[in-house]
Amino acid sequence: MKAEKIYHEKEPIYFSYSLNEWQLSYTKRRSTIVENSEGAENQGKSKEMLRSTFTRELLRARDCKPEECPKIVTGFDIGRSYEGRLIRGLKLSFKSGKKSIFIESNIHAREWITSAACTYLIMELLFSKNPDVREMAESLDWWMVPVLNVDGFVYSHEKERLWRKTRRPAANSDCVGVDLNRNFNFKWELKKCEDPCSNKYSGPYAQSEPEVEQLTNFINNNISEDSLKIYIALHSPAQAVLTPWTHTKIPPRRYGELMYVANAFADALYTRYHTRYACGNSGNMLKMFSGGSKDWAYAAKRVPIAYTIELPGKGRPSPFELPEKAILRTSAEMLDGFIGMIKAVKQLETTLISHRIRPMACIWSR
Ligand SMILES: [Zn+2]
Repeated sequence: MKAEKIYHEKEPIYFSYSLNEWQLSYTKRRSTIVENSEGAENQGKSKEMLRSTFTRELLRARDCKPEECPKIVTGFDIGRSYEGRLIRGLKLSFKSGKKSIFIESNIHAREWITSAACTYLIMELLFSKNPDVREMAESLDWWMVPVLNVDGFVYSHEKERLWRKTRRPAANSDCVGVDLNRNFNFKWELKKCEDPCSNKYSGPYAQSEPEVEQLTNFINNNISEDSLKIYIALHSPAQAVLTPWTHTKIPPRRYGELMYVANAFADALYTRYHTRYACGNSGNMLKMFSGGSKDWAYAAKRVPIAYTIELPGKGRPSPFELPEKAILRTSAEMLDGFIGMIKAVKQLETTLISHRIRPMACIWSR
């Protein structure tokens, strides 16, 4: 079957999938947003209309007319997946002239908690009245792609819950899918996996997959190097904050500062439910690999602060299938972690500048 056909026959609203997971235990008012979006889809409206409906609903829920604050929420897409689905994202920008943070999640299809938590983060950045959240939200421009691997995500919902890769058939093999987090163009060949049947197949060459190519093109074309200061890749279930590198145990430059910020995330997160995230460089914490998005952002894009944040699940009988009650809890903790992390970056920047030392990222200072 042609990829385009699959797309036209069936495109689920993956934002809604994520929202549906946590809205069950969330407020009625916010679930209305999802119902309205689904309603638009059912009536056969175009994707563009659906996107603007979603955006309008978000703005309305924030008691703000689109014409009065037209640039807070901007829907975007980075392009289409192998099967032809739009890969959507949202940009939140409360004030002009801010540096950027980019958050990518659900690159691994079965890690559903990542897009649920990412969606929760979006909603809190928009609606929360907590002064800490407001300060964080308004101090950066937020670029977020809640579901990057849309084909795999749909497949994990409809066919095989624990599917991890994309859905592109491999050449000269009966196996399907590439691990997108092994396909980025930074030292790809160093620790590549060449077995198309492996769950960690790196693809035939670096950046061979449309999802990776379009994400990197989108960032290259839309967010200037001077603007992009923080890159976060959301994963599960290792319950950890991981710095570069993934291909070596030798830590990167300014590892001490990166660890200071990582620990601030973990410490802030710990307060709410005493969940302990581990911190360290990926190469020490996980089995080494290459071609991951965080290392690409850190090295190829020169984003000074780049982490993989692994949400919980390890130790459970089925680490990727969190019970419903864990979704809100995990998301709320993650929000605490982000607040702690951004505060630490600010604090570090101020302290180093006061000592006439250049910080790893100049986000709020010139
Ligand atoms: Zn993952």
